[in-house]
Amino acid sequence: MSEILNRHGFTFQKKYGQNFLRDPKVPKRIADACTEYGERNGDGKIPALVLEIGPGAGILTKELAERFEKVLAVEIDEKLKGVLAETLAEYPNVKVIFGDIMKINLPELLESEREKDGKRLHVSVCANLPYYITTPILMKLAETYHGFDYVTVMVQKEVALRLTAAPKSADYGSITASLNLYGSVKKLFSVPAGCFVPKPKVDSAVVRISMYKPAKFTDEQIEKAKKVIKAAFSVRRKTLINALSQVCDYNKEELKEIIFETLGKDANVRGEELDETQFVKLAERIIKE
Ligand code: SAM
Repeated sequence: MSEILNRHGFTFQKKYGQNFLRDPKVPKRIADACTEYGERNGDGKIPALVLEIGPGAGILTKELAERFEKVLAVEIDEKLKGVLAETLAEYPNVKVIFGDIMKINLPELLESEREKDGKRLHVSVCANLPYYITTPILMKLAETYHGFDYVTVMVQKEVALRLTAAPKSADYGSITASLNLYGSVKKLFSVPAGCFVPKPKVDSAVVRISMYKPAKFTDEQIEKAKKVIKAAFSVRRKTLINALSQVCDYNKEELKEIIFETLGKDANVRGEELDETQFVKLAERIIKE
């Protein structure tokens, strides 16, 4: 891989979180972890469209193209155009779009790309995410497009711990509860820092979000719950009552009663003790619109 990057005069850009996979075993393992679907086409491929964010030099893209009917890769760095054209030349089922994933209209793009020969493909995400915007990307994926089955991504190990943390644990936070409104998150395996070039300071891990099918909560429930989650974790060491009194019209005495009625918990309960369903229940009771 370094040979092709050198030949195209490519230099890594820190601002884009460019730590490319160097060991071909890792992208194979990640792509294999995405093959949850039972269905296969006549050619052995999975009838799904996979969105890859940040194909880099295409090392994971190739593995996805071997396994899935269609791959759509969105890359911000146009300097990778020549490299990707060369590495993906043999894969007509890959389409690369140059742009910023945070600015792309995902529903519009994915709905048009998933139509193939009169059928609708399944849609999943598989990516080695740029670390500087991991959580904004995950929230954008969950919030803007409801058609994903699985979102399988490599993230920094610390982020993986946060994403998969259980209520009451030190790593459980606003991103954990918020993502759990859309799907359940599981850590699949760790990847040491030495598998990347340039070598990052920390190890990574691959996690999979299995999106709830059908959705567990309505859009309205989710919007309300997010307000409560945000308030609950903005004042982490305070009690939930203190946090909630800032986002609703109820006074502390009323909130004490509501928390007991809806959750069966006493006045000292903290936000980090609640799971996503409890946040939804509470939000429905205290957030008017
Ligand atoms: N998939 C490659 C691999 O595993 O070797 C590269 C992964 S590297 C961690 C992250 C990639 O995301 C880089 O290619 C980077 O240029 C790209 N990237 C960074 N920010 C992006 C954005 N906002 N939209 C799309 N791609 C982005």
